[in-house]
Formats: sequence, structure tokens, C-alpha cells
Amino acid sequence: MNIAIVGTGQLARMMAQAGKKLGISCSFLRCAGEDSRPVEGYGNIVTLNDNHDPKQLYHALGKPSVITVEKESVDIALLKQLKAFCPVYPDPEVIRLTQHRYLEKQWLNSMGIDTANHALCNSVDSLINAVTELGYPVFVKSCEEGYDGLNQWRLKSADDLHQHTEAILQQESIVEGEVSFHKEVSVIGVRNSNGEFLSYPVTENQHSNGVLLTSIAPASCPDSVHQQAHQLIERIMTQSNYVGVLTVECFVTDTGLLVNELAPRVHNSGHWTMDGCATSQFENHLRAITGLPLGATSQHKPCAMVNLLGVSPQQVTLAASGMSCYDYQKTLRPGRKMGHLNLIGDDFQEISALTNLQVKAIYMAAEEGAG
Ligand code: AMP
Repeated sequence: MNIAIVGTGQLARMMAQAGKKLGISCSFLRCAGEDSRPVEGYGNIVTLNDNHDPKQLYHALGKPSVITVEKESVDIALLKQLKAFCPVYPDPEVIRLTQHRYLEKQWLNSMGIDTANHALCNSVDSLINAVTELGYPVFVKSCEEGYDGLNQWRLKSADDLHQHTEAILQQESIVEGEVSFHKEVSVIGVRNSNGEFLSYPVTENQHSNGVLLTSIAPASCPDSVHQQAHQLIERIMTQSNYVGVLTVECFVTDTGLLVNELAPRVHNSGHWTMDGCATSQFENHLRAITGLPLGATSQHKPCAMVNLLGVSPQQVTLAASGMSCYDYQKTLRPGRKMGHLNLIGDDFQEISALTNLQVKAIYMAAEEGAG
């Protein structure tokens, strides 16, 4: 079976690697300017030009049985056109909702799922009203194209507001009340076209400058938090008749979980499943979209992931037996996701200590190398 993936980054690469085990071959749709090195050697790469014809594109991609996506920013109109030739999973309508922070939160609230208090802002008046209503500090984020900390401001005072108003009003934004949280977690679910649903153990995430740095699973949280995470992802996926992998990122608060955002795809916080689970998120995404039975999501042992941000995987020493390193084959640039490490341990404390040691070793060595 041949499937097509929109995007040519590391998520596409790891899906293609998982596909080999299932007898699934991949082709890739590359957008202008996109680096295709991560998927070179894994299948045909088709570059999207301005005058694309959907039928020609479908044929160039090798008449795939199904089309899926590996990134946030995808052309929804094009995906809808491609639906005339084969299924596109996840559904483009759901992807569209998740591309827009305000629509996404409204959608979640309509399903009875709690988020931060928020308001839409597209003018000076609506910005001032939102800040007045929510009270400082607030987070202001562009509704679209604002992932990994881009186009985001934390405003603590009227001075901050004045300083950033012009930049904020360059695009439509959402203003969110600051959530007081203990930790950030994510939960990944998978659902196939027959309605079979499974979720992975909840993952605890640490960010650096808005970018994921480490994940540890299972998260160290009360049972009630784990249960709430599994229930809410099942609700979202069942109600939307979702097919594929979905990731839900949440804040753990005194009163339970608040959803921060959704990612309608395999996710960086699920890379540990490659070594920690019976079936990785990548394999299960392919199983789901091709209508295969899902693989077990059970976890063997506590597991962690460390992102290699602007660090070459070639420079990393695997200091312990339970460590593995994944190289995305990208050209090195500061802060760029170049690869990741997976670590396996015996309990949460051990894996947490090992993760901190690795982060220090990797980033101190990188600083010394640069200095
Ligand atoms: P996001 O791009 O929405 O994932 O936000 C990046 C990071 O900013 C999150 O991982 C949180 O650490 C922090 N953050 C975002 N929104 C809020 C909020 N409403 N309250 C508190 N912290 C937030």
C-alpha cells in the first residue's frame, strides 16, 4: 500500500520508517522552501508549485490509498480538493479548527472541555477589553502560525501592553488569562476508521523558550489526572469521528486539567513511544489511517525523551545502556530540532535524574563547543 504525507520533516521520516514494518510505502508532498533531507531515500518527493492541479498531484504522488499530514501549517483548500481522489486523515475540517487558536478553544468548550479563559482580539479596543476582563498577567498569541513560542507575548502591566500593541495588532490574536499550573502534560490518542480507540500513557513535558525540551512518561500526577486526560481525548476523538493520532497538550491545575492546544498528528511529546511502548505513535498513526487494527499502547518501562535543539546528534555520547539516539539528517542551525534521545529507566525518579544529567551534558558541551 502507498500513502502520501504532506510535509518532509522528521515526523514524515519517522512515519516512513514505521511504514516499512507494515509494508506501507510513502511519497511526500514538499512545499516551496521546505527541507526534504529528513525523507530523502524514503520515497518519491513531489514539490508543490503555484499552479498545481489536484488530479496531477494525486497521480504524481503515486495514487496513494490515503493522504495524511505531518505539520501544522497545511493548505486546507488543497487537502479538501485531494479528498476527491482518496481519504485524507485527519479530516481537513478538524485540522482547520486546530490551526486557529480561538476556533480551537471554542470547539473544545462546546464539547464541555475546559481551557484557559480567553478572548479574541483584532483591534485596539478588543485588546484593551480582553486585558481588562482577564486581568494581568495575560498571554497574547497570534491565532494562526504561532507555534514554538512565535508571535507570543506575556503581558504583566499596562507598560508591556503599550510596548507590544503594535506588534500584537499585526495579526488576529487570542488573549488568555495566565493559568497557574503545576506541570504541563500531553496525552496522545489514536483512533481508526472502525472507531477503535486507544491512548498512550500521559507524558510530562518541559519547555525551553516555548520549545519542547524533554518529555517523561508516565507523568508523575494523581490517578485522577491520568483518568481525566484519557477521558477527554476519547471524547474529542469520538465526537469528531477522528481518524489517526491526535495530541492534546494540557496544564495540570489544582482543579484538574485545562487543555492548552491540540496537534492533529504524531507529536514530539510522543517520540518516547518508539522505545517505550509496544507500538510507537508512528506505527499506530499508519495503522489508524489505513484501517488496520491498532497496536497495543502499553508501556514497558518509564521512558524519557530529550530534544537535540541546535545540537548535532553526531556529537552526543550514549552514556547509559537504555539510551538511543535518532538523527533527522538535517543541516545544523541554532535551535533547530536535529534529533532526539530516548532514555529508558526503572522508575520516575531515576529517569528524571538521568534526563536532567543528559540535558546538562548535551547543552554544556554544545556551549563549550560554540565558545
Ligand atoms: P503554546 O504555544 O500555547 O504552547 O504556549 C507556549 C508555552 O507558554 C506553554 O507551554 C506554557 O508554558 C506557556 N503558556 C501558554 N499559555 C499559557 C497560559 N494561558 N497560562 C500560563 N502559561 C501559558
